[in-house]
Order: sequence, then structure tokens, then C-alpha cells
Amino acid sequence: MLTAAQQERSLELVLRLLAIKGQSGHEADVAAFVVDHLRAVGVPEDAIHFDTAHLRCPIPESTTGNLIVQVDGDRNIPRRMLMAHMDTVPICVGSQPDVQGDIVASKDPQTGLGADDRAGVATVLFAVTELLQQRRSHGPLTLLFSVQEEIGLQGARYLDVDALGQPSLAFNWDGGDPAKLTLGAIGGYRMTIDIHGQASHAGVAPEKGVSAITVASLAIANLHRAGLLGKIEMEDLCGTSNIGAAHGGQATNVVADHLQLKAEIRSHQLKTIEILVERFQKAFEDAAGEVRSSEGKTASISWNGDLNYQAFSIGGETPSVQIASRILKQLDAEPILSIANGGLDANWLFQHGIPTVTLGCGQHNQHMTSERLDIPQFQLACEVAMKIAAGEGDA
Ligand SMILES: [Zn+2]
Repeated sequence: MLTAAQQERSLELVLRLLAIKGQSGHEADVAAFVVDHLRAVGVPEDAIHFDTAHLRCPIPESTTGNLIVQVDGDRNIPRRMLMAHMDTVPICVGSQPDVQGDIVASKDPQTGLGADDRAGVATVLFAVTELLQQRRSHGPLTLLFSVQEEIGLQGARYLDVDALGQPSLAFNWDGGDPAKLTLGAIGGYRMTIDIHGQASHAGVAPEKGVSAITVASLAIANLHRAGLLGKIEMEDLCGTSNIGAAHGGQATNVVADHLQLKAEIRSHQLKTIEILVERFQKAFEDAAGEVRSSEGKTASISWNGDLNYQAFSIGGETPSVQIASRILKQLDAEPILSIANGGLDANWLFQHGIPTVTLGCGQHNQHMTSERLDIPQFQLACEVAMKIAAGEGDA
């Protein structure tokens, strides 16, 4: 168990991190907070590095790249990397963290807490600052505080891998139960669908128009009826899909000539994603053919899709998984191995050749106003992270 003083310090640290505004693309204040704490325990300036991933990410005027810190060790053991993402979803901006018994929630009912993933940032930062402050022996460490995770793992995708110092073992904190070890995650595809119809006066000559909204409605209705929206559970197709945003139209008296939809598809199988993308495209093309103006015009559909991350899985025999499992058992927690339905930074780390295990840190109801942090779970995660940082858990 953490000492009473450590419990207090870890809670104070996470409360301060939760209160910082920092949605995707605007993580600079979080990074500054982390850097201040690392400097305070003696991490030298030349160990602290920011990459330029944000210049390649899609959010314009992003404030910072990934924060990468290399800490020298006094033991000659393989380098371990500890990581978490600094951004939160927009609903968490303005979070007012409030301790209510064993949980932390946002006092403002309109905002989420942001434990996803400030609890992860706090876990890594607490572990390393405690270790350095106590001058405990440890091996070489890399800390990675990534940006723009919540908008499709962009920071991890464009990460400056060379700046990591070739870690042999990598641990990511982002999730709920600290005993849950996530070894893989689903793949995701995001798309923007633009439907270009034909404007006309809705009262004088509606027949001359082609309504982009009608086309979209037909396509969406057909996808829904075919069981291809939401949870998809068919013999040969398993995954999820969502049309999450629709923007278009101008006024009641104009046939809408443009509608833009933002949608996503997820599955563990790349093949399934490919099939679903085709089915989506066909639904919109078919719907476009159904809506014609009196002059025979139809809508055109333009697609902008991108496979944000591929499904991946590391084996249970991966050394980082073994180490995390041993440490959890030492702490009387039974490791639970799982595969996530959401994307994780670990997804891109895997693509970059760094197999990474993801651990929980007490987050619950992520991305909702009811989000909360389970304090005992968070503090168990801190303890696990301290042992990992200290080089424990080898067979
Ligand atoms: Zn997260």
C-alpha cells in the first residue's frame, strides 16, 4: 500500500491535473505542469524533449507535440517506458474535480471529469517523481505523454519514435480496473461523407432541386434496416459503426444542396472494416440514384476516409505483460487480460515496433458527464507504476 503521505500526494496531483483545460490539440498547459514537476525532482533540461507530431496532426493551431523524457538509471537493465495521453474529450473542459468519499467527480454537472486520461498522466508522473525524490535505484526510463489521442490516436501515430531511446518494455495507463491488462484493441476507420445535391427554391420550384438531406436520410435508413449501424453482430460481420455528426442546409425555403456527415466503423478484423466501408459507400450511392430533379440531376457523393489505426494484439507472453502480471499478483490483485473495443495509443506503438501493455488507472464512464475516478483503484495503479518504474517484476 501507498503510505498515508503518498496517498495524499497522489490524490493532490491527480486533482490538479484534472482541473487543467486541455482538450485534444490544446495540451500545452498539461505538458507545462508535467515538466514543472519533473524539474522539481531534478530531471535535467536536456532530458526533456517535445516532438513535432502536432504539426502533422489534423487539428490546426495545435499547441504542443508529444512530451518525451528520458531519465538515466543507475542500474543496467532494459529500458522501460511509461506513458499516458494528456488530452481529454471536449466535454471535460472546465471540469471541477470534487472528492466524494472514494471517488472524484466533476462538481459541474455539465462537464465530464477528464480522468481519461489525466489519471494516467498522474499515475506516471507520481510514480517517477516519488522514485526520484526518494533516490531509489532504477534502470533507464522513458516517459511519454502523448497528445491528440481522443481524436484518433494522432499523437501516437506521428510520434518521433527515435526520441524514445529504444525502450524494451512499454506500459500505458488508460482505463478503469488497474488489474486489467489490455493486450490489443480494435481497428478504426473514420470518414467524412459529403453529399452534394442541387439547391432550388423550396416553394417555387422544389422539383428542380436535389435534397442532400433526403439522400442522406435514405442511405441512413437503409443502413439501419440492414443492421449496419450501431452494434453489428452478423455471422460474418462483427463490429460497430456510428454516424456521429451531420451538418448542412441553410433555410426552410431552400432545397439543401449540401450535407456533411462524420462517421466511423470499428472492428477487430481489417476485412470487416473494408466490407463495411463498401456497404456504406453503396448505401449512399444507391440513395443518390433514388433522388432526382425534374431535369434528371442527382446528387454526387464524395468520401474522405482514413484507417486511423489497425487492430492489433500482443501475446500474454510479452515481457511487459508478464512483468505487470507479477507485480499485480504481489499486490494481491489478479490480472485480467483483455482486448479493447476502443482505440488506444498502444495501437500505434505496436505499429512502431514497441509492444505496449495498457493498464487501468481508475477511470469510469469515460467521455460522459457522469465520469468518475475510483480513488483506491487510481492509487493501486500508482503503486503498480512505481514498481514498474523501479525495475521490479522480473522473473
Ligand atoms: Zn483515454
